[in-house]
Amino acid sequence: MKITFHRYDLRLKHTFTTARGGRDISPVVVLELEHDDIIGYGESAPIARYGESVDTVADFLSRLDLTRFEDPFQLEAILSFVDGSIEGNAAAKAGLDLALHDWIGKKLGVPLFKYWGLDKGATPKTSFTIGIDTPRVIEEKVGEAERYPILKVKLGGDRDEEIIRCVRKVTKKTLRVDANEGWKSKEVAVEKIKWLEQEGVEFVEQPMPAGDLDGTAWVRERVNLPLIADENSLRLQDVPKLQGAFDGINIKLMKCTGLREALKMVSTARACGMKVMTGCMIESSVGISAAAQFSPLVDYADLDGNVLITNDPFDGVRSLDGTISLNDRPGIGVTKLV
Ligand code: MG
Repeated sequence: MKITFHRYDLRLKHTFTTARGGRDISPVVVLELEHDDIIGYGESAPIARYGESVDTVADFLSRLDLTRFEDPFQLEAILSFVDGSIEGNAAAKAGLDLALHDWIGKKLGVPLFKYWGLDKGATPKTSFTIGIDTPRVIEEKVGEAERYPILKVKLGGDRDEEIIRCVRKVTKKTLRVDANEGWKSKEVAVEKIKWLEQEGVEFVEQPMPAGDLDGTAWVRERVNLPLIADENSLRLQDVPKLQGAFDGINIKLMKCTGLREALKMVSTARACGMKVMTGCMIESSVGISAAAQFSPLVDYADLDGNVLITNDPFDGVRSLDGTISLNDRPGIGVTKLV
């Protein structure tokens, strides 16, 4: 198995701002895993909140030694070995997991969703994300999202009311709200969520800091909207701990080390009676198409990372009108463009 990788700077259509700050370029690492004349593609979109950058991903990948393994079909052994050998580095591990899965699908000649026995017609609608911005830009973005039936609005600051007012001025669509841990006290969170209940909001993602699970449970007892964990649901072992504090989890490949663990998280969340969402970082069509493969298993999707960029290096699963359309290409379903 030969692994090569390179940095690729995804250019954003708009400066992307959340409760944590803003940016115009989002660098990722694209991986190619070659074996038996087949190339599997993977992508790592590092998350700064967890100390990751393209440099930490590159460092991780250049230290990988998979010589003891014969081929990508040893998925379980390879991923356990890699996960056990170095802590953290979830996005780097996800890049490898995606490349292995893509390779296997290509070798077998089947798209992953088919390999897993999933229904192509059962994909959820994806939301389109509106970042924190000036009223003029927010209105512009809502206009650009015309074909998307659901909008995900980033809140969590002191302009929440203004932002929702601005969105509601131009659309009646279903809204989902992501506070990105921005509401620092449980009283504020309850007050905000009660107000959002009147604004046509479907659920609220990560209202409180991840470290305040008790506070989140206190909030949940006092509101009607479902609460979905994101920063609190990084990996498989987090899921059972969230019962009572959250109604569901957001699974992101870049947080959970990839598709193999994502599927385990879906099953665990279901066993705990929780809803499942899948989301993304700013990613190219590699990461988004990979997440789309298991999307028939989830209740909610927020897979818009590749439509927020202007220089996608791959063609893959599309969601132009908000419907995730799986294609019949093998593996994760992507073709390299550049
Ligand atoms: Mg989120």
